[in-house]
Amino acid sequence: DSALRAIDGLAGLNAFLHVDRDLTLAQADAADQLLAAGEAAPPLAGIPIAHKDVFVTTGWRTTAASKMLDGYVSPFNATVVEHLAAAGAVSLGKLNCDEFAMGSGNENSAFGPARNPWDPQAVPGGSSGGSAVAVAAGLAVAATGTDTGGSVRQPAALCGVSGIKPTYGTVSRYGIIAYGSSLDQAGPIARHARDLLEILDPISGFDPRDSTSLQFCDEQPNAPGRIRAAFDQAVRRQDALGSQPLKGLRIGVPAEFFNEGLSPEVASAVEAALRAFESLGAVRVGISLPRTELSIPTYYVIAPAEASSNLSRYDGVRYGHRAAQYRDLAEMTSRSRSEGFGPEVLRRIMVGTYVLSHGYYDAYYLQAQRVRRMIVNDFQQAFSSQCDVIMGPVTPNPAKRIGENRDDPTSDWLADIYTLGVSLAGLPAMSIPCGFGRPERPLPIGLQIIGNYFSEGLLLAVADRYQ
Ligand code: GLN
Repeated sequence: DSALRAIDGLAGLNAFLHVDRDLTLAQADAADQLLAAGEAAPPLAGIPIAHKDVFVTTGWRTTAASKMLDGYVSPFNATVVEHLAAAGAVSLGKLNCDEFAMGSGNENSAFGPARNPWDPQAVPGGSSGGSAVAVAAGLAVAATGTDTGGSVRQPAALCGVSGIKPTYGTVSRYGIIAYGSSLDQAGPIARHARDLLEILDPISGFDPRDSTSLQFCDEQPNAPGRIRAAFDQAVRRQDALGSQPLKGLRIGVPAEFFNEGLSPEVASAVEAALRAFESLGAVRVGISLPRTELSIPTYYVIAPAEASSNLSRYDGVRYGHRAAQYRDLAEMTSRSRSEGFGPEVLRRIMVGTYVLSHGYYDAYYLQAQRVRRMIVNDFQQAFSSQCDVIMGPVTPNPAKRIGENRDDPTSDWLADIYTLGVSLAGLPAMSIPCGFGRPERPLPIGLQIIGNYFSEGLLLAVADRYQ
C-alpha cells in the first residue's frame, strides 16, 4: 500500500503507465500469508517489483508505450513475469518506456517522457526509462527491462542505479513484445549487484516456448541456480585473497571506448573506477575493439530490419488500434498504422523495409551481418587471450535535457556507441554507478562491465566488490 501511495505521490516522474491497486494488494496479501507461514516462503516473497510495459501481463494492460496497443490486455503472461510471480515478488504495475523499446531517452513514449529523479528536466535514458526511474526514486526494489542495444545498461547509468543484460538466449523472450529478435534480452535494474542476482537467477533458464532459448544437448548453460552458484564461487575466491580480492583479474580497456566523443566528465569518472579496481588487485590491459564505430551502422541496419518484420503484425486487424474510417482493406491497414505508430517507430520501419528490399538487401543487410560477425570475433579475441572482463563507459555523456535533440533524431543513435557492440555479439554486460558529472550539473555516470558468454556470475561478483 505504501509503495502504491509513493507511486501516486511521484506521478510527475511518469514512471508508471498502468497500476491496478486491487491486483497489487491481492498479490501482497498472498505474499504476507506465505511469509506468515514461515520457512516455506518463496525467495522474493513480498518484494515490490515492476515490469517494463513490453512484458505481456494478464492483469495489467500492455501497450509497449504505443498508441497502437492502447487498451490491449494479453491473454497470457510473459515467462519472466511468471517466474517472478512464482518467486513471490509483488508487481506494482507496468513501466513507461520508449515506444516498442525504440529510443534512448524515453522521449518516444506515446504517454509522455519519464523524468530523471536526479533532475526532472533530464531524460532518464531509455528505452527502459521507467524501470530505471522506479528504482532510482525508490518506488520499486527492482524492475524488469529489455536491452536490444543498451536499453537496460544506459537508463541504469543515467539514473545512478545498476542493470545487467544477460547472455543472449539465457532469459526467455516469450511474452516480450519483439523489437529486434536476434538482439532482445530481458534483464533487471536494481540498486546493487546482489539485488540484480536475486532477480536474474530465477528468470534465467531454458524455455521451450522461445525458439532462441539456449540448451546444449542435455546441459542448460543458464539453468536456474547456475548464476548464483557462479557468483558464490567467485565471491569465495575473492574472499580467500584478503586485501587484494580481485588479484589476477585482467580488465581489458578498449582504446576505442575512449574516443573523441567521450566527455571529460565521463572519462574521469570511469578512470577513477578503474583505479579503484586496480587498488583491489585487478590489472588493466589495453585492448582494441576496432569495429566499435561500425557497430552503430551495423545495429541501425539489423535492428530496424528485424523491427520492420516484427511490427508487421500490427495491421489494424488482429489487435490494437484500428482507424475509424477507411475505404478498403489496404487503407484500413495503412491508416491504422500511420495513426497508431509514433514518428521514431515509423522511421525505423521505413529504414528496415528499405534495407531488406530487393536490390538493397545485399548492400545493407548482408553487409551488416558480415560486420556483425567481425564484431563477435573482436570480442572473442580479447576474451580468449587478453582479459577476463572489459570495462569502459556506458554513454559518452550524462543525461541530456528532455527535448534537447528533438530536431535531430539520429544524434541519439550515435550516443549508443559503447553499448551496441555487446548486443550484436550477444554478450552479457552490466552498468553500475561510478560517479557524477560536473558540479553545475551533477548527474549520475555509469561504468560498463562486459564479460564473455555465460559469465554473469563473475560480472556480478566483480561489481559487488566495487559497490
Ligand atoms: N537506443 C537503442 C535503440 O533505440 C537501443 C534500444 C534498446 O535497447 N531497446 O534502438
